Amino acid sequence: MAWDYDVIIVGGGGAGLAAAIEAKRAGANCIILEADTKLGGATAQSGGVFYAAGTSVQRAAGIDDSAEDMFQYLMTLNHWSVKPDIFRILADESGPTLEWLIAEGTEFLPEQVTFGGIEAKPRAHPSHGAGTGIAETLINTAGALGIETALGTRVERLLLEDGQVIGVHAAGIDLRAPSVILTTGGFGNSPEMIARFFPTAARKGDWTWAVHRRAPYILGDGIRLGEQIDARIVGHDTGLLLPGSNAGGKALEPFLPPWLMLVNREGRRFIPETSSYTISGYALNEQTDEVAFAIFDERALVEASSDLSYLDPYGSGIEIPTWEEPMLRERVAKGEIQSADTLDLLCARIGIDPKGLAETVRTYNEDCALGVDSHYFQKLGKRYPVSTAPFYAAEIRAAVIAVTGAGLDINRDCAVLDSHGRPVPGLYAAGEVLGVLMGKRYGGGGMSIGPAIVLGRRAGIHATLAARSAAQTA
Ligand SMILES: Cc1cc2nc3c(=O)[nH]c(=O)nc-3n(C[C@H](O)[C@H](O)[C@H](O)COP(=O)(O)OP(=O)(O)OC[C@H]3O[C@@H](n4cnc5c(N)ncnc54)[C@H](O)[C@@H]3O)c2cc1C
Repeated sequence: MAWDYDVIIVGGGGAGLAAAIEAKRAGANCIILEADTKLGGATAQSGGVFYAAGTSVQRAAGIDDSAEDMFQYLMTLNHWSVKPDIFRILADESGPTLEWLIAEGTEFLPEQVTFGGIEAKPRAHPSHGAGTGIAETLINTAGALGIETALGTRVERLLLEDGQVIGVHAAGIDLRAPSVILTTGGFGNSPEMIARFFPTAARKGDWTWAVHRRAPYILGDGIRLGEQIDARIVGHDTGLLLPGSNAGGKALEPFLPPWLMLVNREGRRFIPETSSYTISGYALNEQTDEVAFAIFDERALVEASSDLSYLDPYGSGIEIPTWEEPMLRERVAKGEIQSADTLDLLCARIGIDPKGLAETVRTYNEDCALGVDSHYFQKLGKRYPVSTAPFYAAEIRAAVIAVTGAGLDINRDCAVLDSHGRPVPGLYAAGEVLGVLMGKRYGGGGMSIGPAIVLGRRAGIHATLAARSAAQTA
């Protein structure tokens, strides 16, 4: 058969660019087909945090860490319910892949390495220039290697012959290649896909939105293309949901101010308020009606709201709305934040148990006076008792889709598996299009870009090897 390319890469975000770079370096004649008018995908819009263990950047920061510790952490956090072989690769290759990115030109500063989730040693590596920085590094390398790209080219279907993928159909033409790599990202911009594969998010109705909104083709195309060849779709309902207050417009606010008291419908605190998003969204969804309320008083509104230190721990520069006084007053005036002169009245307005809240406030205020957290035993920053009327309550729901979890299943070579668990000849995948990267808990900030680039590189190499052996047998 006459091939147009050795490897066709569908989607030019982080995973696709990394796949193309490795394919090209391994000698493949390859092309990236990208639906958007620019490369980068969600990767370029992201915070650019990369989760990795045992890196030179950690060592420079005095952090002694290992791939083994990362593997044990991720597996334990996920109750060992994720694929161990894939997570072993993610852990083992995280450090070498970060070093590879550094060699390609991305900068990671030791002083910025921080906790991404609830790991014992900091593993989140914020990159200089955030997601744009990583995307630009990859785009520049791809350009220097002379990798062909076709922008504005949305792949509509796979070409099949005798159960093998032999190319794609896009922009009215067939392109043939013995290896095709799907790196089309997640499905955060598709309400239909969210309803099918992320029902916990879909249940939030108008509250639900995805951080992918500036990457318009994050529509789940990879799942649709996979379904064409009976690919196994896994990771149902496992995406990461961030807390959101649905106020001030639909804005990204992954870190709520630490001076809020967070309670459920029973009026009880249910997590330390400063919890990482590895914990917070999941815990929120376990509460009655999957809702919580951020309670604060007039003094906190005036005095605490000027503290913005919680906003962007990764220094990503991503626009995040503040809970500063003018915005809070505006939201109160619009009725987005409820207010009342007594706590009982506030409870009646938001529909929570007044007795429960009164008891929680009593111990919370005692703790504030003593500077302790007798409930969760956390070290507290400055806290504010709930004591000065008027009192305020903002409704919080875990409705903001940060990463979609469902998608294609793969083996260690990144070959896509069919519904019987058999590799589909000629088809590979990497990145957020996969359903094997998320389990019961998100590992922490950086656990999407890291795996996308780790597996993107791997898919590029294995797709090239397969293309070579297809050429030899032709
Ligand atoms: C605001 C924001 C902040 C984030 N912050 C972080 C962070 O700090 N750390 C982290 O680990 N994760 C973060 N994430 C998540 C992370 O960015 C993504 O999970 C990851 O970058 C996905 O990479 P990818 O290559 O799989 O997909 P993408 O980078 O999204 O690339 C997919 C590409 O495929 C293209 N495409 C789709 N369908 C087709 C088709 N049919 N034909 C051709 N092309 C197609 C898309 O246009 C897109 O360019 C963030 C995400 C966002 C949006």
